[in-house]
Amino acid sequence: MLDMIIRGGQVVAPEGAADLDVGIQDGRIAVVAAPGTLGGEAGRMIDATGMIVFPGGIEPHTHIGIPVPKLWAGRSEVITQPPEAATRAAAYGGVTTLIDFAGNLAITPGESPTTDPIMKQVEERREAFAGHSYTDFAFHFILAGATSPATIGQIGEAIQNGVASFKIFTTFNAARTPYGHLWEIFQQVSHHGGIMAVHAEDNDIVTYMEEKLKREGRDQGYNLHLVHNNISEDIAFRQILRLAKHTETGIYFVHTTAKEGVAAIAEARLQQQPVYGEALHNYLEFTCEDYQKPIGTAIHTYPAIKYPDDRDALQEGLADGSLCTTATDEYTTYKDVKMSGNTIETVCGGHNGIETRLPVTYTKLVATGRISLERFAAITSSNAAKILGMYPQKGAIAVGSDADIVVYDPNLNKKLTLDDLHADSDYSIWEGFECQGYPVMTILRGKVIVEDGKLSGNTADGQWLSRKVAPGILARPGC
Ligand SMILES: [Zn+2]
Repeated sequence: MLDMIIRGGQVVAPEGAADLDVGIQDGRIAVVAAPGTLGGEAGRMIDATGMIVFPGGIEPHTHIGIPVPKLWAGRSEVITQPPEAATRAAAYGGVTTLIDFAGNLAITPGESPTTDPIMKQVEERREAFAGHSYTDFAFHFILAGATSPATIGQIGEAIQNGVASFKIFTTFNAARTPYGHLWEIFQQVSHHGGIMAVHAEDNDIVTYMEEKLKREGRDQGYNLHLVHNNISEDIAFRQILRLAKHTETGIYFVHTTAKEGVAAIAEARLQQQPVYGEALHNYLEFTCEDYQKPIGTAIHTYPAIKYPDDRDALQEGLADGSLCTTATDEYTTYKDVKMSGNTIETVCGGHNGIETRLPVTYTKLVATGRISLERFAAITSSNAAKILGMYPQKGAIAVGSDADIVVYDPNLNKKLTLDDLHADSDYSIWEGFECQGYPVMTILRGKVIVEDGKLSGNTADGQWLSRKVAPGILARPGC
């Protein structure tokens, strides 16, 4: 007898969306079959009539339980919401796996990154999440600043140990990695079969614009898009792409923000470079014009929200395949912290977004008829699993895959209020957003963790994931 059968739903499987029943055994998908063919008995029978059954959401970009720089928070010892809260919000939002970061992100001037071994830092983050996470989790490793030869020498070992992706910054004070070091890092990551996650902005443009706007008395937070601007993204993306081409390195551009970034990725993919782009869901809705509103910079995540034609290019990129994933850059604080800084150098990055990504993306792109259900599953789950080395264990409703599933009710329309959300926070930039459809059940490895607004998982459920990127993803655009 199967542990669970989900029947009557429209299942978005790798072969396409169809009316199918899904049988689950021992945490994995045991069978996917024509409706009504699995027999009448199971440990639990779930009626998904009228529902869409997607692979559980994969959130490839979060910053959970880390110190907020004093520059942003206005005071010391502020921490973004802890794993218990972030993964609770994730579970409610249909997310079953997230990728956070290990390694330290030193963005306060004068602060320098720790030199502890990579795997020691990964182990510390595993310990911070183990027993505290409702969802499965993994970590990119941040190589911040002028990375030492000793640290670069540990990249191969880390990849062997399941840490498949490395994050670098081309701006942000002490976090910025100089190009020479990047060249070396790319060679090592490429040689050992890992992939780079890149925050690309042109540091010279950014610092020049900061100084210019300060000099001219125009350093208000609502001018952030003039600092972290379109030409900066254009130049930085193309420089990274050249370095990647010379070193045959796979690139995952986090938070693409500008039409120039989308175009750079599309051109590289056309030339068969293994390049992938991520869009944040707040960039699909808001524009820099919204910065002008009261508490307008609450919507801000770095680099910066750009113009209406950039927003359109991001949506189009997700629809036409130039971009591959949606993410949130989850970085949840309370409103007093988020709104503490109000200049181009002090506005706090990030927002509490992990819970809203699926319904917002569905509303913006599926409900408007711009993308198919299959494409939705790709940009919210499967592609992140493929690019970052978790497929087909994660990201697929297929026999043998982990039974990570979100049951989505396309007819449940919801105008979001703070009461609908489950983060440790007292504001949401999505308050008032009208969702077309909403997740109603989340299943992690065969266990129902959220059902009809009730949390039934626990913080011991989440497991760390060892990742390995498939060769096909690193050889050419593999999704
Ligand atoms: Zn980030």
